[in-house]
Amino acid sequence: MIIKNNQLHEVQVVHQGRKIPLKTIRTNSLEEHKKYMRLESDADIETLSIEEIKERYDKLPTGLKLGTTRDSMIESLKAAQRTRHMKMWHDGSQLIDHPYLLHTVSFIYDSLVYYTNEEYLNRYGIKADVQSIVEDPFIYILAMTRGTKEGQLRYTETRISDIEELNTPILIPGAADELGIPIIDVIRIFHGDGPARQFESGQSKGGSYPCSNCPIQASLTANLLQSQKLPRVTLEEKRETIMKKGVISRANLEIDPNSLNKQSLIAELKALKKFQLGDEKKTVELLKNKVKKHYKGCISIPALCSTNPDISLNDTPLKSYEIAPGEIMHDLKEHTVHLLLELPRHISDRDNRLEVCGIIAQLRGSGTSACHYREVLIKLLKYTKIIDIIGINIYNILRF
Ligand SMILES: [Zn+2]
Repeated sequence: MIIKNNQLHEVQVVHQGRKIPLKTIRTNSLEEHKKYMRLESDADIETLSIEEIKERYDKLPTGLKLGTTRDSMIESLKAAQRTRHMKMWHDGSQLIDHPYLLHTVSFIYDSLVYYTNEEYLNRYGIKADVQSIVEDPFIYILAMTRGTKEGQLRYTETRISDIEELNTPILIPGAADELGIPIIDVIRIFHGDGPARQFESGQSKGGSYPCSNCPIQASLTANLLQSQKLPRVTLEEKRETIMKKGVISRANLEIDPNSLNKQSLIAELKALKKFQLGDEKKTVELLKNKVKKHYKGCISIPALCSTNPDISLNDTPLKSYEIAPGEIMHDLKEHTVHLLLELPRHISDRDNRLEVCGIIAQLRGSGTSACHYREVLIKLLKYTKIIDIIGINIYNILRF
């Protein structure tokens, strides 16, 4: 509805979006990746000796249980070899003057599920970077909508319905087992820019507590000791914070202390059992700070809990879901800027220094984005004489 000439007018807004269902992506990716996967039948695994199973488990990350009997070892190995973990990503951007939202899915490389490069070479006689092939993203949702919370929420319900189907394994036909080998897919991690991570976790965008993973205050983020000491907050803990405490948050599945008046702030503090004698005489600003200090930026339910907010994430296919604590390319941008600024000062020969300054200035151009700086650094390191000029030690630091 919009108001025009003091009259209410109904306006219809059409949003268009296309989705490749997660089940289709899971099936297509299996078809694409099956030649890189171990895909042993039950019979193949059951003939392995205890020593062979243990040897394979040595490759596993610590914390996975092998079991004590041969049968339990076999079952653990079958489960680990047949479970893929998915990485989700989304972001909004402008394309030909229209706002678009893109979601992608990729599968995380695991040497128990997929061959190593050496194994693939021995098996097929072809060199391949198995990890980069397996982790290549698939387009999931492309929608014409703004990257705002409202825009992103329009596609949350359809994402949740896809995730609910994850309990059903995909069978690979034609495998040695009669029914096919069942492959389980687990939604494991979300990575993306800060605002996308904040949407996914229900964290406030900006403000005093912007981290999706811990309750650190924005002013203390440069304090590494303080950052390391703080506990990690899981998505389930965030859901509980919104669902179990306070009255205002329970009613709306979100809380914005900045929008509350004095009466609501006092009601919230009382419901949280944080109300103290004398609080009623405090200013609205002080009361807001007290409520903010309690929620620590956890302002709404994690996005993928929105259709069933009362159900614990531990009872859903999202029980292993985590938000990555950073976005590597953006986090490294400022380091890259500093490295490029500092590099010429480490070159003692004047001509070489001027040559490197010229290359950097030419490569940098007018671009300012994180991916541009990454490209500049990669191109600089590919310059033929660069190792001779800066020395292998500095080259390795930049390469790292
Ligand atoms: Zn943090």
